[in-house]
Formats: sequence, C-alpha cells, structure tokens
Amino acid sequence: MPQDPVRIYVLYTGGTIGMDGHPLAPMPPARFESLLGTMPGFDPPWLTLQTFDRRDLRVRYTLDAFDEPIDSSSMTPDDWVRIARRILDNYEDHDGFVVLHGTDTMAWTASALSFLLEGLSRPVVVTGSQVPLAQTRNDALRNLVTSMQIAATTDIPEVGLFFDQALYRGCRAAKVSTHAFEGFRSPNAPLLATAGISIEVDEGVVRMKPPAEVSLELADNRRKRLERLDAIEAALPSFSVLSVVLYPGIQATNAVEVLLGATEPPVRGLVLQAFGEGNAPSTPSFLDALHRAHDRGVVIVDGTQVVQGSVNVDAYRSASGLEHAGAISGYDMTPEAAQAKLTYLLALGLPRERVEALMQRNLRGELRAEAGPAQGLLFVED
Ligand code: ASP
Repeated sequence: MPQDPVRIYVLYTGGTIGMDGHPLAPMPPARFESLLGTMPGFDPPWLTLQTFDRRDLRVRYTLDAFDEPIDSSSMTPDDWVRIARRILDNYEDHDGFVVLHGTDTMAWTASALSFLLEGLSRPVVVTGSQVPLAQTRNDALRNLVTSMQIAATTDIPEVGLFFDQALYRGCRAAKVSTHAFEGFRSPNAPLLATAGISIEVDEGVVRMKPPAEVSLELADNRRKRLERLDAIEAALPSFSVLSVVLYPGIQATNAVEVLLGATEPPVRGLVLQAFGEGNAPSTPSFLDALHRAHDRGVVIVDGTQVVQGSVNVDAYRSASGLEHAGAISGYDMTPEAAQAKLTYLLALGLPRERVEALMQRNLRGELRAEAGPAQGLLFVED
C-alpha cells in the first residue's frame, strides 16, 4: 500500500537526459537538481501530478545521484550493483523508484536490475531521453514525469523501461533508434503499460507480486539481497562474459579461439549472437574451439542476432553443431538480457550445470514462458 504522502526515489546516474554542452556530457548532480526544480509541477521535494480523475496528487520525491554522473556507455556490472544497492537501501521509505540513465546501455541495466532485485514488490522504472532536459524542445520532461507517475501510482512489481509512450519489461527492451523519440522496442514481449492521456497498465501482462517469503517487503529479505549484492560485487572481477556476433567467415579467422584464450580474468560465459534461429557455421575449427572452451567450463549461450523471434536448435542442422559443442539455447532472450543474466548467475558462484539450467528457465519474464516453469517464476536459492 502506498504511504501517505506517496514517496518516490529518483536516482540520476547520467545519460543524455541530464547532459549539456558540446559535445554533450552529464551535468553535475547539483545543477541537474536545480534544473529539475524549475520544471512545471516541481516544487522540490514535491511534484504535483494531475491524475486522470483530475485530482491533484502531491508526490514527495527524493533525488539522489551518482557522485559523478556518467554517459551510460561507461556503465559496468559494478554500476548495476551500485544502482540495485541504492534501491534496496531506500526501499523501506519509498513506494516506487525511477532510475535516470543514458539510452546506450539502458537495456542492459534494466535487465540486470530485474535479476539483482529478486523479490521486487514495488515499481522500478528506468528511463532517459534522446534530447536533454536542458534543451527547450525535448522528450526528457515527458519521459521523466511519466516514469515518476508510474512509480507513484501503479504497483507494478517489476523493473520496467519507460520511453516515449511505452513501459517495456526491462529485461525485454532493446534500443532501436538513435534519433526517434520511440527509441526502444520490446520485439518479443507485450508492453506492461502504455501512456497516452492516461496510463493504461496491462494487468494481464504484469507479473504477480512475489510470495511473502521472498518479497523485498520484508526487511530480512532486503538484508539477504544486500548481502548477495556484496558477494556479487566481490565475484565480478574474477571472470568475464563475452558476447560475439557471428558473421560470415568467422571460422576462417578462428576469432573465437583467440577471444576465449588466455584472457585475464578468464572468460566464463559466452553469449553468441548467432544467425537466424541459432545457426552457426559448421566449420570444424570453429566448433572445436567452442567445444574446448566448454570443456574448460565456459557456459555458451546460443542466442540470435535477429531482432524478433526465438532460437530453435531443432530447425536446422547448422544449429546442432553448437549444441554438440555444449551450447545451450538462449530462446528469445535479447542479447542484453542474456549477457546480464549470465553475468548475474556466474557471479552467484553456482556450479556450471546450475547456471546452464537457470539460463534456460524463465526467472523474470526474460524468455518465453514455455521454456520455464508453468508459474513462470523461479527464485535462486541463497
Ligand atoms: N551516450 C548517451 C548515454 O547513453 C546516450 C543517451 O543517453 O541517449 O549515456
């Protein structure tokens, strides 16, 4: 139940939304805070929203920021953990959360947060813009205010990515345009909500609240999740997850062997963005290199570089070579979700077989429900 007054937490991490100058760079937190305070409806720490029933809703917001806001092209898995930790630290006092973020890697962060915030029971909305808030004509104010309204007035227990008119499931979204205001799409999953004159939530798509025993409503579960974040952060420097887009001729250069070779830290995960339904060249040198990597313990995910649709390893013989080399299907996960999920699972220190099994299970709605358990919800053991 939202508290009275409704309270939301807004974290400014950087991104175009808070940028100015030529070339664009993030403005410092204090400058962003005073700019935001001059926007219509803002009277810090209050934001007044006119909801559809025309009653004014006064929302109390907490604006927090990275000490040094960044262009999201510099985001790392450590930053994913940092954002998750800020949300957990502020969970008790806030009804919803908004993360202001650059668009370039927003889909990775939104995916990662959905895995890191296991047991999420309140809305987390990641947003940004194509044009800075500091420019007169922009998409920033609308994206920001709509995201704050979603965080304040809905109880969607998911990490969403809001952009233009749509709330996407965070682990399903992908950046599709460098210039259109409709900068994102969710090619394999329906929208959580649409924002026109009013905000329409699709209750049939939104996931159920987590059961009480794992819900972040409980202080004890938040404490466990924070401890898990510490463990994840400690594990991150010890491995890397590689993402390779296949291209015609990759077998000749044996690029995979080079990439999987003597790297420091060692590669423990490989997300292949293969052709079509998960197809790859059948060249022995290419497949042998993968086989050897798998024998050394590398988890190999057979994903697709095609924007829409799913991997189907049974469709063509050209996918079976990957299967024999030890690759598992990435089904219809976006490359961003697959990378974030594999990083998360490996950082938990689970045995390889468990990581491979969980990669193919539906944990947060990131892959088609048929591939996961009937209830589509699975919790990773502590
Ligand atoms: N380079 C920017 C970033 O991702 C782009 C954006 O925000 O739209 O931080």
